Amino acid sequence: MHIKTTKALVAAGLVADAAGLDAVAAKYAIGITPAISALIDRDDPTDPIARQFVPTTAELKTTADERVDPIGDLAHSPVEGIVHRYPDRVLLKAVHVCPVYCRFCFRREMVGPQGLGTLTPSELDAAIAYIAAHSEIWEVILTGGDPLVLSPRRLREIMVRLADIAHVMIVRFHTRVPVVEPDRVDAAMIEALKASGKTTYLAVHANHPREFSDSARAAVARLVDGGVVLVSQSVLLKGVNDDVETLASLMKTFVENRIKPYYLHHPDLAPGTSHFRMSIAEGQALVRALRGRISGLAQPTYILDIPGGHGKADIGASTITGGDGCFTVRDWQGIEHSYAPD
Ligand code: SF4
Repeated sequence: MHIKTTKALVAAGLVADAAGLDAVAAKYAIGITPAISALIDRDDPTDPIARQFVPTTAELKTTADERVDPIGDLAHSPVEGIVHRYPDRVLLKAVHVCPVYCRFCFRREMVGPQGLGTLTPSELDAAIAYIAAHSEIWEVILTGGDPLVLSPRRLREIMVRLADIAHVMIVRFHTRVPVVEPDRVDAAMIEALKASGKTTYLAVHANHPREFSDSARAAVARLVDGGVVLVSQSVLLKGVNDDVETLASLMKTFVENRIKPYYLHHPDLAPGTSHFRMSIAEGQALVRALRGRISGLAQPTYILDIPGGHGKADIGASTITGGDGCFTVRDWQGIEHSYAPD
């Protein structure tokens, strides 16, 4: 059963009672797919999968620094559904619905049944016209919401229209579907993600190695074998993946499944999510520890979306200091070495 209400959470044994949760549900959507429900250990009160998807009353607490639009999408939206923050790429947010609703979601005020919905045909026309009119746009990133909730027919329509725009070379999808609803990734879906003359990338969002069930691994394999290039996207989350063993295992799981680790996000200042956030210094220490532990192939880039819409910054701690030809470089064990080439 696809869980969408507090009553269904109780019936599925994911919470003992719904006390206090109706107030959470009134603000933020609930969504847990059967695949994710099956991964949750009901006997573990600290289960990292449950923590990502099962609502708690902690979400009712907002802090002064939290914002409705934490990464500043609205400030860079020239037409409905488009975010044009950097010159060479745009976000195309065709849909604001997801199969699951992550409790830490950075767009939680926009997604869900009461969110911004799906673009109307005329809004989609205007969004595609905007892309066609801006020759500097090299990459279109379909996000939302989760674009893979759209049917293969709808996805194909979008891809066919993007295929007609000569300056668009790359189409990238950001999605949780291969992990949370793997059976959706069938041959029709994979064909729909591709367009003549364009390269399709897909960023798989996962935060804990246990999300990679056998079905999820099979869905990912179908995508890679079908010609889609995969990269990863994760969020560093307190109580989910904030220890080096889990993080290392997650990154290695990506690589083993032919997904190149890409972004590890510091959690955004989304309302009611302070219980997921650690300090940036703690995040940097974790990322440094990863460096000494796992292959360079498995290293993600630790990223902060600067609040207010100023874009992404690489916040992995710098390992080099000094200047004027004489530097000090720190190795993965924290030991400093001088580097002063003649
Ligand atoms: S899938 Fe993405 S957009 Fe949807 S709730 Fe999770 S983080 Fe938010």
